[in-house]
Amino acid sequence: MARKPIASILPGTAGNLRFLADRLRAGHLVGVPTETVYGLAADALNARACRKIFVAKGRPASDPLIVHIAELADLAKIAVPNQPALTLAKAFWPGPLTLVLPRTGIVPALVSAGLPSVAVRMPAHPLFRRLLKLTGRPLAAPSANPFGYISPTTAAHVHASLGARIGHILDGGPARIGLESTIVDLRDPSRPRLIRPGAISRAELSRVLGRPVLLPERVLARPGARIAPGLFKRHYSPRTSLTLHRRFSASLIARGKSDEAWLFIAKPAGPLAKNIFWLDARGDLRGVGRRLFARLRALDVAGYRRIHVESATGDGAADAINDRLRRAAAR
Ligand code: AMP
Ligand code: MG
Repeated sequence: MARKPIASILPGTAGNLRFLADRLRAGHLVGVPTETVYGLAADALNARACRKIFVAKGRPASDPLIVHIAELADLAKIAVPNQPALTLAKAFWPGPLTLVLPRTGIVPALVSAGLPSVAVRMPAHPLFRRLLKLTGRPLAAPSANPFGYISPTTAAHVHASLGARIGHILDGGPARIGLESTIVDLRDPSRPRLIRPGAISRAELSRVLGRPVLLPERVLARPGARIAPGLFKRHYSPRTSLTLHRRFSASLIARGKSDEAWLFIAKPAGPLAKNIFWLDARGDLRGVGRRLFARLRALDVAGYRRIHVESATGDGAADAINDRLRRAAAR
């Protein structure tokens, strides 16, 4: 039997933020808003608190957590920064960029899944930043969803799937970006590699660094390399079967059954059947990224037998959107 949700959703008043900072310092979990997706936060320096994250999410212990910091001065406490890291931090923090660096001894092994590295991000969401400062500790926070399911972009999403497992969720409104952070591996400063595409594109990173950032495929291609242990082929997935198409053709949709949903990037022309959906009226990829996960959740519970989705085209954000769609479609 499913457990009843007990979590309360709290607005970001000064009193609530102080209360939630106390909860975090006492080793409890809190659902937090970020500009990427909602996170499930715990004191990153408290191994017992972080263990609760893995339990609540059903996340394998082999999948390390991203640690969030409030100020650049906090970086050197948990990681060993190098020049490219400082260059990228200066250009993109606070923001949706995570850097993987060698870690210091104060980071519990559990947080980094036993690796000698740590993933660090300085988030931009004003409420999360205030909470980080009030807590006075770095906060480990993966997305606040059961492992493998679609990431949450509202407090209500967190409540729906983890509400029975946590006490409190800080409401910061719908996530502005809606896709998880870009992750760059800087363990070898001479060979920066993309681990996960996000709103900040590989081209932007390469331009700021003045050298090419390697593709994630190269990372995955290395046989047996435990470089990015959390990169699973199937992830961000609805329970309903999802088919990813390069482009929707009129004949394909005409053959489509009414118990299947068709999700376009931009609003298609003409009279539209009830099972036709789109992510952004004009196909603006920022709007697509922002609405993607909420739309997939809504379609997942709408009772369709299958969800068909069209790939995004263009540069930058299209890579991140298509990466999530490919994983959602994987068997
Ligand atoms: P998330 O699922 O959004 O919490 O992102 C966590 C992902 O960041 C993991 O699945 C890894 O791909 C990557 N990551 C986190 N920590 C490390 C680390 N210490 N070394 C390498 N990759 C990491
Ligand atoms: Mg996640």
